[in-house]
Amino acid sequence: MVHFVGAGPGAPDLITLRGAELLKNAGAIIYAGSLVNPALLALAREDCRIYNSAEMTLEQVIEAIRKENGRGGDIVRLHTGDPCLYGAVREQMDALDALGIPWDDTPGVSSFCGAAAALGAEYTLPGVSQSVIITRMAGRTPVPDAERLENLARHGASMAIFLSAGMLEEVQTALLSGAYSADSPAAIVYKATWPEEKIVRCTVGTLAHSGGLAGIRKTAIILVGGFLSGGYDRSKLYDPAFTTEFRKGT
Ligand code: SAH
Repeated sequence: MVHFVGAGPGAPDLITLRGAELLKNAGAIIYAGSLVNPALLALAREDCRIYNSAEMTLEQVIEAIRKENGRGGDIVRLHTGDPCLYGAVREQMDALDALGIPWDDTPGVSSFCGAAAALGAEYTLPGVSQSVIITRMAGRTPVPDAERLENLARHGASMAIFLSAGMLEEVQTALLSGAYSADSPAAIVYKATWPEEKIVRCTVGTLAHSGGLAGIRKTAIILVGGFLSGGYDRSKLYDPAFTTEFRKGT
């Protein structure tokens, strides 16, 4: 059986208890070596066979799984953050279905959550934004036209932009042609929750310059929106005057 597992954003103790247990029991681990913290492999059994998928094609990954599945042990396919975001898991799940190899999926802490924790930020502040747009700039993977960054930026919602730290100029230009102005708050978080984590707080107008000064080109998430600065409304949930299922308001 194959277990897709979210490794979390970097710090090895941010994997789930379930994910750690699966790693400990695996006969084989195929990990995304470009981003998964190799420290997690310390959990593996001594006789566990380890593959680094950064050096493999989809076909080679599926072939490795097929071979390992034939040996009868459990296989962990370890992805960074949560597998459901930019994880290229669906094509693997479909290939396993076609081969009749069973699989399940264990979520992980996505890097957009790790980045918010690093900043001490809340994406969904009352009176500011109640939505988070998770997106990316087009790279070798195209982005559907309706989802171009300048179109999404029109909402002025909180945004977490993945896979785009090498295109800060383009990100900045796109955001400025949306609802954001040069002084809208922004941040770049490099390697959130890793020991080498870097936090750059800036504005949309200084995004490219600030990222350049910090030398950030990859493994970073770009955050934009009013949630990164001052004002917001108090929550209703914890308002003394507000009655909920669990508490009577005064
Ligand atoms: N599934 C992953 C995302 C994989 S795509 C998740 O849920 O986080 C790879 C992109 O994720 C990187 O280009 C970067 O934008 C972001 N990323 C991954 N780990 C990160 C980290 N620790 N800090 C900041 N960004 C990270």
